[in-house]
Amino acid sequence: MEIIPKVHLIPGITANPYLIIEPDGLTLIDAGLPGSHKKILRYMAGLGYAPKGLKRIIITHSDFDHIGGLAALKAATGARVFASAIEAQAMVEGHASRPLKPRSALTRLLFGLMAGLFKPAPIQADELLSDGQTFPVLGGLRVVETPGHTPGHISLFSSSVGILFCGDSIVSEKTGMRGSTGANNWDQAKSDESVRRQAGLGARVVCSGHGPVVMDAAGKFPQI
Ligand SMILES: [Zn+2]
Repeated sequence: MEIIPKVHLIPGITANPYLIIEPDGLTLIDAGLPGSHKKILRYMAGLGYAPKGLKRIIITHSDFDHIGGLAALKAATGARVFASAIEAQAMVEGHASRPLKPRSALTRLLFGLMAGLFKPAPIQADELLSDGQTFPVLGGLRVVETPGHTPGHISLFSSSVGILFCGDSIVSEKTGMRGSTGANNWDQAKSDESVRRQAGLGARVVCSGHGPVVMDAAGKFPQI
């Protein structure tokens, strides 16, 4: 599903993966739950791209619903994988990048079940990302460190296009955008600070890891 020219949301996958099309190849942001690689490759094929057309995969953070399809995708495409140092370490070790904080025995049980059910294959990133690094896509797609949901969470922002890919640092819901909160949020103060930082970027389109894409985003950021 094309959001704006050159940017697609690949539908039917948890969490939302975004595909960016440039003349030199494709860039994917996040890789969905385990098994999502098939849907991603099918979507690329629908646009006329062979698996080798995928040049890079950028990971916002290492939660299982963002890196589940990553190992299989890398094997099928040869794409280079980019992540922050903290998230890359968790990806290699095959666990979440921060402890979860279940408030009840039931949530604890649920987290345990999901971690077992959706365990992503460990994978090594090819390059580590830090704040300010820029990819040659969408007129310059800049890494913005947005810790809080996880310690090494990053977002990606193109000022020329006005588009922000915010992973789980901002959740989009029918009622609007909200910051990351709750049992899977690593640090609330850092989370809030990251939302404020992103609200100041001037993004017109916000692409979150969960929920609908937000168009005309100015003025719609959570007031924290
Ligand atoms: Zn997450």
